[in-house]
Amino acid sequence: MDRLSSHRATKEVVNKHNFKFSKSLGQNFLIDDNVIDRILEGARLSETDRIIEVGPGIGTLTREMGKVAENVVAIEIDKTLIPILKETLADLDNVEVVNEDILKVDVQGLINEKLNGGPVKLVANLPYYITTPIVMKFLEEDIPVTDIVVMVQKEVADRMNAKPSTKDYGALSVAVQYYCDTEIVAKAPRHMFVPQPNVDSIVIGLHVRDEKKYVVDNEEIFFKTVKASFGQRRKTLLNSLGGLGFLSKDEIREALQAANIDEKRRGETLSIDEFANLSNEINKFSSK
Ligand code: SAM
Repeated sequence: MDRLSSHRATKEVVNKHNFKFSKSLGQNFLIDDNVIDRILEGARLSETDRIIEVGPGIGTLTREMGKVAENVVAIEIDKTLIPILKETLADLDNVEVVNEDILKVDVQGLINEKLNGGPVKLVANLPYYITTPIVMKFLEEDIPVTDIVVMVQKEVADRMNAKPSTKDYGALSVAVQYYCDTEIVAKAPRHMFVPQPNVDSIVIGLHVRDEKKYVVDNEEIFFKTVKASFGQRRKTLLNSLGGLGFLSKDEIREALQAANIDEKRRGETLSIDEFANLSNEINKFSSK
């Protein structure tokens, strides 16, 4: 069987199996060859790659990755798709489908069991209702992932890729860019999916850095500082950092001064380096 990524091929598979799309599982299947090629290029896919895919659907992207990569493990929650995938991926013995919920499965365990312990790349057209939890699970749980190349809603890609003092810059921008270099790989307007969603999408590449770029003494305090700073966007840092809950106003003022940050600035103007410095100063108080 060749590619599934035409509208006709997808319809054939869907009709043959009498498959019913589930809106609540974010099932919008890709029907564009070109964007699939761009995803593979963005992931710099090679024959030594071990891939995790979340939500293979009917296996459109999975097939193309299976043809190139060493191994692909595709995690799909919808059990009605499993017999379909069995058929569409039958000729690829380096591809395995796991019928699990990505947010509940032990990803590290899967990697140890099925992908030689990694490292892995996460490549997927993600279900949009859980994009952020999936990406953060891979980044925060010390999973040996080198690259995340994923189709996400355009607005989410804009936030992941945003620079300080822009409208899209927020806690998600800082969290992603703390770990990764970001790259916009391709645009995918809504007509490239069936059924057509009511949002446009973007393929974003998040390339995890080998070395840490930012000096952060305490990651928990760093992320709390970021969250409090963006918690009330209209407030100055002197006020919004009160949301941390463990510093007096004088201590906040002292931490801001030590980090060389004007107390009247707002969180959305701070670079990640500034957040790192500020959280290191705040950490000195929390460990007193
Ligand atoms: N990869 C296919 C494609 O590009 O045509 C399908 C992508 S579709 C946007 C998202 C897929 O994620 C669906 O197959 C859906 O069933 C699956 N999915 C939704 N929630 C999931 C979860 N919690 N864990 C694993 N898969 C999930």
